[in-house]
Amino acid sequence: LKMRIPLPKQRDELHTLSETINSLLNRIEDAVEREKQFTSDASHELRTPLTVIKGTLEVLIRKPRDNKEYEEKINYCINEVDHLNMLVDQLLMLARFENQRQNILPESVYLNAVVLDVINLNSGRINSKNLNMKFEAEEDYYINSDNYLVVTIFRNIISNAVKYSNHGGEVSVFLSKENNKINCKISDNGIGIKKSDLEAVFNPFFRSNSSGHPEIKGTGLGLSIVKRFTKLLNIQFHIESKINIGTTVILEFNEETNTLQL
Ligand code: ADP
Repeated sequence: LKMRIPLPKQRDELHTLSETINSLLNRIEDAVEREKQFTSDASHELRTPLTVIKGTLEVLIRKPRDNKEYEEKINYCINEVDHLNMLVDQLLMLARFENQRQNILPESVYLNAVVLDVINLNSGRINSKNLNMKFEAEEDYYINSDNYLVVTIFRNIISNAVKYSNHGGEVSVFLSKENNKINCKISDNGIGIKKSDLEAVFNPFFRSNSSGHPEIKGTGLGLSIVKRFTKLLNIQFHIESKINIGTTVILEFNEETNTLQL
């Protein structure tokens, strides 16, 4: 910390000073606690599928190879490996950022192209779910920021909109300018998030619809990554959602500065 606290001249200044120091210490302790919790949650999330895969394979190796159970269990293991892959991808997004953040230099990021690229990345799922995917931009929008982090933010939000949409649903991305800010709205008319979970969805590994929709796979890391990156880039970010009606994510960029706020 480079912060310098001026030396107090009077008693009440001493009091203010000790309050400032205490509140700083509390914030540091909270951050350390969150980091510890994250590491322990992450190792649990990684170990559980590995234990399941190992146990399943150990049982399987003792069985005859041509029965139905054999095939079912192998498929089960493949699904668990897919899940691990997703988890490792997202943990790497975080780790890559932690490693590189000293070297990040702001660059011109062309938002319209970022949105189109991310939509294309999701085209397989958009087609297979027969979604009506819309993208509208009033103009060409550029911001001064970090391309990788901005792409990661859009990847997580747009893939959620697609993933939590019902078959034949609609996903729309709308870019415009309001009050000198570039505004991006990503909306879907999918399964929505219940009101009581609207805050918890930003916590690492928290999944809101996993019991109601066990077929929709995820790690619970996407929105916590978005929250972390938007905060660091000084991008406003919030979610509006209603269960069974749909979800809208709103991002607000400053044109000049969306660089790192360390
Ligand atoms: P996940 O990998 O589970 O999708 P996220 O961190 O991206 O993790 O999202 C956390 C939870 O928020 C999800 O499990 C889901 O319950 C809910 N969620 C996120 N986006 C949407 C959306 N567009 N529609 C409905 N639910 C969503």
